[in-house]
Amino acid sequence: MRVSEIHAPSSLAEVLEQRRRLPEAAFYAGGTELLREQAGRFLRLPPEIISLGAVPELRQVALTERFVEIGAAVTLAEILELRENAVPELLAVALRGVATPAIRNLATLGGNLATRSRFMDSWPALACLDALAEFRDASGSHWVNVNRIADAEGLPAPPAGALLSRVRIPLERWDAIAIRKVGLRDYPAAETAVFALAARAEKGILSEFRLAFAGERSLRLREVEARILGRRLPLNAKERRSFSGDYREAASSLPPGLKQQFGTLVDGALDLLSR
Ligand SMILES: Cc1cc2nc3c(=O)[nH]c(=O)nc-3n(C[C@H](O)[C@H](O)[C@H](O)COP(=O)(O)OP(=O)(O)OC[C@H]3O[C@@H](n4cnc5c(N)ncnc54)[C@H](O)[C@@H]3O)c2cc1C
Repeated sequence: MRVSEIHAPSSLAEVLEQRRRLPEAAFYAGGTELLREQAGRFLRLPPEIISLGAVPELRQVALTERFVEIGAAVTLAEILELRENAVPELLAVALRGVATPAIRNLATLGGNLATRSRFMDSWPALACLDALAEFRDASGSHWVNVNRIADAEGLPAPPAGALLSRVRIPLERWDAIAIRKVGLRDYPAAETAVFALAARAEKGILSEFRLAFAGERSLRLREVEARILGRRLPLNAKERRSFSGDYREAASSLPPGLKQQFGTLVDGALDLLSR
């Protein structure tokens, strides 16, 4: 039988010290992703584990007028229990769509965002909200825009070996938001992905338009968003056709089922701006 060495630090400083000593160790938060596909009698765990569940600094939530800061080891269920308006609706809806209540009681925001095998459900909402993630390693603390957790190919790229310590989410007014999960609902399958949209207008002019889609790969087209921004609402039929075409073209690399659903969701979002 293989034995895993489990370390249970009780402060952030201890986590970082253990990470320095054990660069290959896996961080274990809720464990729901690490253990996801294990149905056998015995669990298989990485040889060295740093458990994050008892680290108070990673379990804190700080709320200001401008943002909410959520520790990486706060569970999805705990986030959903925060008081009204403490969490942007876009994120709350995305988190309610994750798995089942039992899983959400264990699963953490940090684990959801730091998973490398695919994008999990929080990424599209956090990307639209322009959230920042704080990563810590031997060289100190680095704030990274959640959009940069995706590489040029649209694959997940959280900084290797670093601890995700907290996520800072701006609290802003949105005039239109949309979040839809497509594919298998309660499980991250190949054809499961999440679509998110956040838009705002000032005096009839579109001042913010952010659209993100992610499953095994992510899609966020900043250049199309830049072309949509500044348009007078409602969009006319020609504008709608043009932006829809741009998004559909960019989606050509998605699996066929997802490509079609993405196109329909984009058209729905553009429809919203055309009324
Ligand atoms: C039945 C089932 C259904 C699921 N359905 C969904 C779903 O619908 N949507 C969805 O999004 N997910 C789903 N998941 C996956 C998983 O539950 C979530 O993604 C969850 O948020 C992962 O968090 P965790 O704390 O359990 O992560 P863990 O399993 O503890 O860790 C996941 C990965 O992140 C790393 N990690 C964890 N915390 C940190 C940190 N602070 N810093 C750096 N690295 C870290 C770990 O080393 C590991 O590689 C499902 C899982 C199961 C078992």
